[in-house]
Amino acid sequence: MSDSPSYGDIYERYPDLFSKNCIDCETGWYDIIEQMCSAIQIYIDTDLSDDNLEFEFEYIREKFGVLDIEVYGGDHITDIVIDSCTQLGYSTCEYCGEQPAELYCSSKYKQWSYYKTLCLDHAIELYFYRLYK
Ligand SMILES: [Zn+2]
Repeated sequence: MSDSPSYGDIYERYPDLFSKNCIDCETGWYDIIEQMCSAIQIYIDTDLSDDNLEFEFEYIREKFGVLDIEVYGGDHITDIVIDSCTQLGYSTCEYCGEQPAELYCSSKYKQWSYYKTLCLDHAIELYFYRLYK
């Protein structure tokens, strides 16, 4: 897990959405995460949302190869935004942001593997195996 400095921008730009540094994934998903924060911040700032709406990210991370997001608070609108970003992560390389991407595993022996969503170039470079034919 790299601790890329570029996620620092997001904490600085959206301080109301984070009480701690809780993004733990490679930076290929940066744009997805940035756009998700932007959409939620705009929604919270406008009068469209409940004045007392509480919202905070618990974590944004890679888990079992896919984008995994947990929040405190929010409402059905923030849930829709988060769901659509999670969906985007399924087809976006975690390393470079390239599309299409799909889930690959780190070895032929699935029980000892870990999983990553990768573009074909990164799957080849990292010696990952295709899961689905
Ligand atoms: Zn890639």
